[in-house]
Amino acid sequence: MASVFSASVASRRSFLRLGGMAASLPLLGEGHFAMAALRGAIQSAASPGLAAGHPPVMINANENPLGPCAGALAAITTSAQTGGRYDANGEIDRLGAHYAQNVNLPADHVLVYAGSSEPLQYTVLAFTSPTAPFVTADPSYEAGMEAAAAVKTPVIKVPLTPADAHDVKAMVAAAPRAGVIYLCNPNNPTGTLTSAADIAWAEQHKPKGSILLIDEAYIHFSDAPHSLEMVAQGKDVIVLRTFSKIYGMAGIRCGVAMGRPDLLARLKVYGMNPMPVTAAAAANASLSDTSLIPARRQINTDVRSNTFAWLDKGGWRYTPSVSNCFMIDARRPAKQVIAAMQARNVYIGRVWPAWPNHVRISVGTADEMASFHNAFSSVMEDPGSSTKV
Ligand code: PLP
Repeated sequence: MASVFSASVASRRSFLRLGGMAASLPLLGEGHFAMAALRGAIQSAASPGLAAGHPPVMINANENPLGPCAGALAAITTSAQTGGRYDANGEIDRLGAHYAQNVNLPADHVLVYAGSSEPLQYTVLAFTSPTAPFVTADPSYEAGMEAAAAVKTPVIKVPLTPADAHDVKAMVAAAPRAGVIYLCNPNNPTGTLTSAADIAWAEQHKPKGSILLIDEAYIHFSDAPHSLEMVAQGKDVIVLRTFSKIYGMAGIRCGVAMGRPDLLARLKVYGMNPMPVTAAAAANASLSDTSLIPARRQINTDVRSNTFAWLDKGGWRYTPSVSNCFMIDARRPAKQVIAAMQARNVYIGRVWPAWPNHVRISVGTADEMASFHNAFSSVMEDPGSSTKV
């Protein structure tokens, strides 16, 4: 209990100190786009002529349609009753150690947050500066580069390789004074992997004093190796994970930063807002459900494979994703495809400027993907769809 209270006092102080900077950080990432799309969906559902009674198909924000597991739902209900207190049952206190035990790291190598967006932004704030750039693949997840741009840190974008992996040699070469090199593995939006050998190469050759920020938000959808060994070995590496994806807790909020205690201490100055007790309880229950990851990975793989088989039949090219999202080369401006899909009540992902003709699709349920197939066929067969924006 004492630790929660002192954390909240410390966070208030650091918030006051850094308030100006924090206030200037944009609210970005999947959550931002999901909320914007939801507002659009509500408006469309209200407009006459649109599929009355059919809820919109939301495959736009890499969410998990399965939601929280049964144990997490029960834990949320129980813990909500103690929500008048910061941590009546010690769920928050327990979570860091529980997560650390789960991934076989010392407890002081793990910090728990209400989502991984916070530690992503804080790592950028802590380790970059106007003279220590942020290096990212392109296309990749934008939240880090937006945080960098907000504090006038130069952002260096390096195209993916032809196999859609991070080009680690080009990334290291691009910024001899880099502050943070960001590797999203599997990558959002492509769903593709960067090999363990390439990640190890980046760690060995990155500029002295820089941090390798490895974002493993989607790692559990694949059976690819993770990078936690580097954390255990005390390298200059911070690994991020989230409960928003395979655990289905995007709206409940929980994420984790892992690294050497001295690196994590650099994030703590930006504030340690106490976790919602419901989120901590749900995360603890999810971690205890040992069948969750293999079962959900299989479901996602099956649905994704069916969609890929369908795209193959239609002659569509897509990224070789091992995750819950992938890109399709739509061979026409993605903006127009997004609008035409939306008119058919199917919401798909946003546009990445580096790939203006690609659309990002999140893997939904089998039913949602069937709706996607119908809408995508109809959009692609209708030449008018490409001129309606
Ligand atoms: N990292 C990546 C690669 C993501 O795609 C997302 C969200 O979609 C996040 C981090 C942030 O997720 P959250 O704040 O929900 O943990």
